[in-house]
Amino acid sequence: MKIYKFGGASVKDAEGVRNVLKVLEANGHGSKVIVISAMGKITNALEEVVNAYLSTGKYTEALQPVKEFHLNILQQLFPKKEEPVYAKVKNYFEELENFIQHNRSQQYDYVYDQVVIYGELLSTTIVSEFLTAEGYGNDWLDARNCIKTDSTYRDAQVQWPETQAAIINLVKRDHVTITQGFIGTDSNNFSTTLGREGSDYTAGIFAYCLNADSVTIWKDVPGVLNADPRVFEKPRLLEQISYEEAIELAFYGASVIHPKTLQPLQRKEIPLYVRSFLNPENDGTAVKKGQPISPKIPCFIVKKNQVLISLSALDFSFIIEENISHIFSLFHKYQIKVDLIQNSAISFSVCVDNKFNNLEKLINQLKATFRVTYNTGVSLYTIRHFDDAAIRELEKDKKILLKQTTRETVQIIATP
Ligand code: ADP
Ligand code: ASP
Ligand code: MG
Repeated sequence: MKIYKFGGASVKDAEGVRNVLKVLEANGHGSKVIVISAMGKITNALEEVVNAYLSTGKYTEALQPVKEFHLNILQQLFPKKEEPVYAKVKNYFEELENFIQHNRSQQYDYVYDQVVIYGELLSTTIVSEFLTAEGYGNDWLDARNCIKTDSTYRDAQVQWPETQAAIINLVKRDHVTITQGFIGTDSNNFSTTLGREGSDYTAGIFAYCLNADSVTIWKDVPGVLNADPRVFEKPRLLEQISYEEAIELAFYGASVIHPKTLQPLQRKEIPLYVRSFLNPENDGTAVKKGQPISPKIPCFIVKKNQVLISLSALDFSFIIEENISHIFSLFHKYQIKVDLIQNSAISFSVCVDNKFNNLEKLINQLKATFRVTYNTGVSLYTIRHFDDAAIRELEKDKKILLKQTTRETVQIIATP
C-alpha cells in the first residue's frame, strides 16, 4: 500500500488534473490512497468568502470566482454537460451556501472550517470522476469519516485511536482510494481542518494507520531543496534526509513539507519521497532512516512576516521562571506560535508567528505586566549546517535585529 499526495499546485488547472493521471499511469495501478488538496489557490479564495461573510454578511461576490474556476475546469475535462460530476459540484456549492444562510455563529475559526473544506471536496470529486472517465478505477472517500479530531477549529488535533479504527474500516486494501487532505470532523460531526498546508499531514496519518510502504508527495519542485527557490538563487536538490533533519527543516519553516507530517512516519520508519509531478521519472528526495543529510550543504530557510517581541519587567526586576511561564500561557491562549526565544537577566525576546491574528490582544495583555517593544513584518532566517560563507551571504544587505547560533544552526532576525 502506497500513499500519494497531490498538492494545490499539481491540480491548479485542467492540464494539472490530466497530468495526475499520467503520473499514476507511470507508477502502476497498485493499491494506493491518494490524498489531494484544494485546486490552486482555492483555499485562499474560500478564506475571502469567510472574511466577506463575517465582516459584511455578504458572500456571493467572493464566492463567484470560486464557482467560475471550478466550472471552467469541469468544461475542459468533461465536454458532456450531462456527466454526473456537474451535479455533484453544483450540489457542493448549494451545501456551502445553505450552511452560510442558516449559520448563526460568529465564531471565526468554526465558520472558516465549515466553509474552506469545500475546496478539497470539490477537487477530489473532480479528479476522481476524471480518473473514472479515463478508465482508472478508484473509490472516492470522504476524509471526514476517517480523520477524527478535537474541536480546535483551524488547528484541529487528531484523535488517533478513533482515526485509526475508521481508516482501517473504510479504506479498501486492494483498491485505489481518492480522499481529501487537510479536513476532518469533531465529535459533533462539524468539519475541522488541520492547519494550512495540512494535506501532507493527512498523507502521514493515512500512512501510519495503514502501515503503508511509503508516502510520495508530488510537487512542482524536483524535491526538497537546500533553499526556498522563491527566495534564494540556485537552490540544490537534497537527495536524502533523515527524519530528524527533515523535522528540523520543516520546524524552522521549510514550507515544502508540513511539520507534523514526519513524526508519524518516523515512528514506523515509513519512507517519504518528495518528487516532481513535472518530471515523475526522477527520484527526488528520500526522507528515511539514515545519515542526516546528503549532500551535506548549508540549508537556508526563511519565515517572512514574523513578529519580534521584547519584554522586560516594569520595575527592572529579573525575568524569572514565573514570568516566563505566564508569558507562555498567554502565547498558548492566543494561539501564538513561537519560533525563537532569547533571554537575558532583565529581558526576554521572542520571535512569533501571528497566524491567528491575535497579536493585538496578546500585546495588550502583556503590557499589564511588562514593558513591551515589538517589530512586525520581520523575517526569520535559519541556516542549518552553516559555514562562514553562508552566513556572510545571508547577512549582506540586511539590518540584523537578533542572531542566535547553536552547533548546527544559525538564526537571524532581520528586516525586511
Ligand atoms: P503543494 O502544491 O503541495 O501545496 P506548496 O506550494 O505548498 O505545494 O509547496 C511547494 C513549494 O514550496 C515550492 O514550489 C517551493 O516554492 C516552496 N519551497 C519552500 N522551501 C522549499 C524547499 N526547501 N525545497 C523545495 N521547495 C520549497
Ligand atoms: N488546501 C489547504 C491549504 O491550501 C491544505 C493544503 O493544501 O495542504 O492550506
Ligand atoms: Mg500547499
